[in-house]
Amino acid sequence: MDYQKILNEISEEIKPYLNEGKVADYIPALANVDPNQFAMSITMFDGTQYSVGNADTLFSIQSISKVFTFTLALKYYSTDLYKRLGHEPSGNPFNSLVQLEYEHGKPRNPFINAGAINVTDALVSHYKDEDIAYKEVLEFIRSIADDHTIDSNPVVSASEMEHGFRNISLANLMKSFNNFDNNVNEVVNVYFKHCSVEMNTKMLSRAMLYLANHGVDPITDKTYISTQQAKRINAVMLTCGHYDASGDFAFHVGLPGKSGVGGGIVAVVPKMMGISVFSPALNAQGNSLVGTMALELFTNKTGFSIF
Ligand code: GLU
Repeated sequence: MDYQKILNEISEEIKPYLNEGKVADYIPALANVDPNQFAMSITMFDGTQYSVGNADTLFSIQSISKVFTFTLALKYYSTDLYKRLGHEPSGNPFNSLVQLEYEHGKPRNPFINAGAINVTDALVSHYKDEDIAYKEVLEFIRSIADDHTIDSNPVVSASEMEHGFRNISLANLMKSFNNFDNNVNEVVNVYFKHCSVEMNTKMLSRAMLYLANHGVDPITDKTYISTQQAKRINAVMLTCGHYDASGDFAFHVGLPGKSGVGGGIVAVVPKMMGISVFSPALNAQGNSLVGTMALELFTNKTGFSIF
């Protein structure tokens, strides 16, 4: 299959839609991003990469980082993790407080904000220190992407903290239900730091390979997690990876995937490749509008949906 030709076609076909959608504006550092950008990369099991557009441009991975923290928490806590949080779709906006109150402080899944902050709390408990927890998350991301230049943007994380009222509320609500171990501000600070990690589509598509290959990196042969844990993460990506638009993403794209409000999306074609797209303008549910469209075009053209 001529992957480069397919990516080039996609980048032409999405052009008329680049002005639709709205860049995340809850912090100035994200609101100032140029909405007209587009990038898409795929990484095959032998390391071959195909890209189109601004594939070297670094962007804020935001909620894509929740896949990486969930991976580490599952590795250390195994099924005990589900005492703290569930694995069902929320059907609610990513930062909703209402459902958390109704459900006694137990977040629906690790990919809504409450769930991801709870996972970060579990990691701070595991590493017994918030700085070490953040460093280990970063080291894990560098390892799966095989790129040691990756780092967090301190301007973005500081700005997230300054405007973090709702996320801090979610953490406090969980704490009030005794479903939170550590200091709220310290944990939320680690959460914002891992959300503010910057990567490009080449790095992110490379980083997805362990999930496309049952937990083992097909290039380095490193085992990160068990086959069963990889299955679980892919399942939660499929059912919860796009917040209240997860059903829509499965319907149109048909791959396990995770979006971030920075405009990135990662997706997994099992036993074949990792994919990442980037386009900062978002749809009403906070997922990259053109990015979702590009992934739909990709699975339509290749037939590589899991269904
Ligand atoms: N840092 C963002 C927040 O907590 C992440 C949200 C997202 O990427 O969907 O609001």
